Amino acid sequence: MTHDRRRLDIYVRSVTATGLVLLAVLVADAGRDGLLGELGVWMFAGYVLLGELLSIRVRRGSEQVEVTTSCAFSFALLLTLGPAPAAIAQVAGSLVADVVRRKPLTKAAFNVAQYTLSLAVAGLVLAVTTDLPRAGAGFRLDDLAGVIAAAGTFFLLNFALLAVVIALLHGVTLRETVVRNVGFQARTDAVVLAMSPIVVAVAERNLLLIPLLALPMWAVYRSARVSFENERLVDVLRTKADETEHRALHDALTDLPNRTLFNQRLAAAIDAASSSGTLVAVMLMDLDRFKEINDTLGHKNGDLLLQKVAARLTALFREGDTIARFGGDEFAVLLPSIGSAATATDVARRIETALEAPFPVDDMHLEVGASIGIALFPEHGGDGDTLLQRADVAMYSAKAGHSSHELYSAERDGYSARRLTLVGELRNAIDNRELTVHYQPKASLQTGRIDSVEALVRWQHPTRGMLFPDEFIPIAEHTGLIRGLTLAVMELALRDLRDLAGDGLTPAVAVNLSTHNLLDRHFDEQVTQLLRRWNVDPSRVLLEITEGSIMADPTRAMAILSALTDAGMEISIDDFGTGYSSLAYLSQLPVSEVKIDKSFVMQMADNASDAVIVRSVIDLGHNLGLRVVAEGVEDAASWHQLARLGCNSAQGYLLSRPVSAPALRSLLHELRGGFRPVAPAEASRLRVVGGGTGDVAQ
Ligand code: C2E
Ligand code: CA
Ligand code: CA
Repeated sequence: MTHDRRRLDIYVRSVTATGLVLLAVLVADAGRDGLLGELGVWMFAGYVLLGELLSIRVRRGSEQVEVTTSCAFSFALLLTLGPAPAAIAQVAGSLVADVVRRKPLTKAAFNVAQYTLSLAVAGLVLAVTTDLPRAGAGFRLDDLAGVIAAAGTFFLLNFALLAVVIALLHGVTLRETVVRNVGFQARTDAVVLAMSPIVVAVAERNLLLIPLLALPMWAVYRSARVSFENERLVDVLRTKADETEHRALHDALTDLPNRTLFNQRLAAAIDAASSSGTLVAVMLMDLDRFKEINDTLGHKNGDLLLQKVAARLTALFREGDTIARFGGDEFAVLLPSIGSAATATDVARRIETALEAPFPVDDMHLEVGASIGIALFPEHGGDGDTLLQRADVAMYSAKAGHSSHELYSAERDGYSARRLTLVGELRNAIDNRELTVHYQPKASLQTGRIDSVEALVRWQHPTRGMLFPDEFIPIAEHTGLIRGLTLAVMELALRDLRDLAGDGLTPAVAVNLSTHNLLDRHFDEQVTQLLRRWNVDPSRVLLEITEGSIMADPTRAMAILSALTDAGMEISIDDFGTGYSSLAYLSQLPVSEVKIDKSFVMQMADNASDAVIVRSVIDLGHNLGLRVVAEGVEDAASWHQLARLGCNSAQGYLLSRPVSAPALRSLLHELRGGFRPVAPAEASRLRVVGGGTGDVAQ
């Protein structure tokens, strides 16, 4: 029992006890005066009962409140016969009503006590201020003040006794309870008590006429009720209008402000900042990998993820900042008044940190990164549209530069110009055979023999020199040029493979595929055509795909992968561990190999959790019947450790960097007997001999 509960209990018991004792005294008093036999008193008790039973329920705000007329009758009795009969009639009537309504006994007893006390004290006030009740004679004008004082006392005491209960029951202060209720209660009680002189006047003619009073009372109630209903309707309409406005300005999924509200606030922030001289920051952000997640795991989970992201982001911002969702996975942030660009980049960093922990969605733990572009008023634009556009440019360069956030800079806008020219140039490069392929071998950890080589594209740019895939693969992927690029790489690799075969060298070749290839229905056909043209056995071709590229459209990817494996090629899962998919799920696809991402392998000596990951991918992979390859093997220690763990093959700078086709030829000849990892001192010597010279390496 809480403290308040205990106090409530004590209070209710003492009020009830006092009231009941007083009632007993009054009943004895009335008995002595012979009033208990008066028909009038009992008729009044009947009216009290009717008044209680025919109470009217009215709404007060969100609550329902009962208003009864019973006091009009008991107070009339008080004026004509005194407190004892008044209390008796009131108590008898309300008691019967409470029993009919099945109110708990304690409540009914408290009501009895409450009425008795109020009527008794009001009777005292009446006795002091007037000579009422005055047998046989009606009211006089000079009774008015006393009657009003008695009515006031009755109301106050009645109200106060109950207010304490409400306060204790709801754990609010008495003051709060009084402030909340006194106005309403006073208004309704005033109306009811004002009826009593009329009741007296009517009763003096004939007690049986009193029911006629029901008519005007009913009219008063009706109008009260109508006005309450009206207020309620106004409330409902107002809430509805608020909701409509809210809907128009907020995103339905996350309840964040939408673009319209964001633009309004941005315009206001620019206005304010123009006069205050502060900066406004606009950030645009989209989630990395969201599309894949959404397509793979379904919109429901995608939506769930967005809601969780929104909630996590919301918690980051101060009052006055705005975080909005523009649709899809695009969010916008407005910092309306900041002192320097550093604040904005700090916030961007905070967003990144907040998104670091995986999001639990439907048994999975989804990881989403974000790319954030920042533009500042007034430096980067004088109006909302320009700022948003510039933030978009910055976001794009964040994505392309693989950093998680970028501040807009005119220079980088130049980057997007450079990017545009690069797109045009790449198209030509594919046609003009500016692309070349370097090869990085994978060797068996048991025998040291090179069983396959991975084809890694390079762009021999006429003016910029050799470009690495990270610089142009993302562009190729965004523009669809990746289809032509993959086929070009494939063709170059098959040509080199055929040439090597002339030397008796027969490694398999691994070609990297991208998402687009796995969505392209003609891809398998085009590949088999190439195989036929270069007369290469499909079993010597391995296709490396990433978890993400399957997730874009698993059904379609599955169909294309099956067609490729049916034709005799093998599939390898690249960069395993960087996505969120389970290996068990991936092994349901027609794959034969999994490559542990280099980020784990490179760290396995220093980072215990990476070592655990490597070990469990090896074990799990084997249990699922897959060959396991470790990439990024840079030192002999890792090599030996991987061999001990039962990993099948290794790839990495220790064995060889990616090398040109001629360098590969020498390397394969040299390592015919198998690669043997050596101590660091020896390794540097080996690299000069085997890794190729500077002009062919990479
Ligand atoms: P990837 O498929 O994971 O290729 C391995 C990348 O890691 C290569 O970078 C390689 O040079 C590098 N690497 C290999 N061993 C080590 C090591 O021991 N330590 C370190 N730190 N790095 C190592 P590269 O050639 O720059 O390729 C980067 C990425 O570009 C590739 O990653 C692949 O995703 C993509 N890529 C390359 N060629 C193609 C292609 O023809 N088509 C497609 N779609 N993507 C390609
Ligand atoms: Ca690869
Ligand atoms: Ca890889």
